[in-house]
Amino acid sequence: MKGTVVMKFGGTSVGDGERILGAGELVGRSLKAASACVVVASAMAGVTDLLIGAAEAAAHHELARAEAAAEVLRERHLATAETIGGKEKGKLEETIETLVSRFLTLCRAIDALGELTPRTMDAVASLGERLSAPLVAAAVRRAGLRARALDASSLIVTDERFGAASPLMEPTRERCRAVLVPLLAEGVVPVVTGFIGATREGITTTLGRGGSDYSAAILGAAIEAEAIWIWTDVPGVMTADPRVIPEATTVPVLSYAEAVELAHLGAKVIYPKTALPAEEAGIPIRIRCTFRPEGPGTLIRSRPEGAPTTVRAVVCRKGLSLLRLAGKGGPGTAARAFATAAEVGAEAILGTHSTSEQNICLLLCRKDSERVRIALTQAFAAELGRGEINEIEVWDDLAVVAPVGEGIASEPRIAAEALLALGERDVEILSILHGASPHSLPLVIPESAADDAVRILHRHFRLGEPVGTGSRR
Ligand code: ADP
Ligand code: ASP
Ligand code: MG
Repeated sequence: MKGTVVMKFGGTSVGDGERILGAGELVGRSLKAASACVVVASAMAGVTDLLIGAAEAAAHHELARAEAAAEVLRERHLATAETIGGKEKGKLEETIETLVSRFLTLCRAIDALGELTPRTMDAVASLGERLSAPLVAAAVRRAGLRARALDASSLIVTDERFGAASPLMEPTRERCRAVLVPLLAEGVVPVVTGFIGATREGITTTLGRGGSDYSAAILGAAIEAEAIWIWTDVPGVMTADPRVIPEATTVPVLSYAEAVELAHLGAKVIYPKTALPAEEAGIPIRIRCTFRPEGPGTLIRSRPEGAPTTVRAVVCRKGLSLLRLAGKGGPGTAARAFATAAEVGAEAILGTHSTSEQNICLLLCRKDSERVRIALTQAFAAELGRGEINEIEVWDDLAVVAPVGEGIASEPRIAAEALLALGERDVEILSILHGASPHSLPLVIPESAADDAVRILHRHFRLGEPVGTGSRR
């Protein structure tokens, strides 16, 4: 729909009553620039962690912890309803009580069964957005607009991969057109729960942690929006995580490919899959800061012709492990190793192998490494027994640090400079994953050296300096 902006507010941006009222006002102001607006609401900051922790506690028969969490949820949302509510306060309180008692019922069932399936986890984790969306809708109404809270389980149809579901775009498009477009035509602002969807049978799913950004892009693509705005707590995608590098600056423009690469390699500011539906539908994404709404933020769009090949940011992902199968594996070993990791539900973040697949390295999340090591030991039991594979080695507490920029992997100068800059400061590099992606140079290093490595590379590539001075390498 021409002139429509889909705007998503992140956890901090809806962190308390005052901030939610601020979000409502921002919607009002934005409607002066856009002709219509769909809002996507995240859970209030910290709520999804609380829900997940409580469900896990219930599975370990620590029901008291889940009950304490219910109390925290109730009080926090009731206090927010008090700030926002006005004459809607009673209705909001009723909704909150219903959702908190649904949470308790689910936790009691988990405790009784001593089992927590991904499907049940999604039913619990979805409650944060189900609690926040009615509050955000009330705040939009307080700003003088018409608004309606909607549950994305009636809009976003997904597959059955609970915890990391993917949208089925055709039925999603149909539902969004049937539900959202008439509301927008009437001048109503739909306020949709982020993060969640439902299978064709109507069972709640979630899109993955941080997935509300993805919800906004899915809805944007479904209604052919003019733009997708992600309102967050930083002034855009920055040249490095500002918590680590305070002098990091905002990157004014990124290509979709750069955004995907940055997100996969650790820039939490945008969920990795967000750019995909937006790129397919040709919709630009803007990252904007709720604390400084007038700032330009970052524009993510197709790469303009002739844009220079340069390092745009240095990103870092911690909490990783490297597994190595060493020996004389031979052809087919790498495929089996990757397949084994996938069978136990572990994502191989990156991988390498030496000549003839004799040595194979898989980079995994730390939490998956023991599970994958056991699975590999079983899958390669015969080869291990015959001594064709010597052993499976594991290095924990690693990080990947990566300069990112479209096409940088084919610029030999950039790789050479990065390695030299780190080498001069004695940063140990365990693996270089050069060439797998054209847009990054991922370096595996000890986690303890990660912040320093980001600092060294950020300084080396002069990323903290104002853009337009022509001083960037
Ligand atoms: P939201 O709740 O709005 O979705 P997130 O916490 O998911 O926000 O993402 C924003 C956070 O991402 C920031 O607070 C920042 O610390 C972190 N971050 C990591 N890398 C970057 C980066 N390169 N640019 C901006 N923020 C980053
Ligand atoms: N509330 C969800 C999470 O914390 C989704 C999101 O905030 O994007 O993962
Ligand atoms: Mg986020």
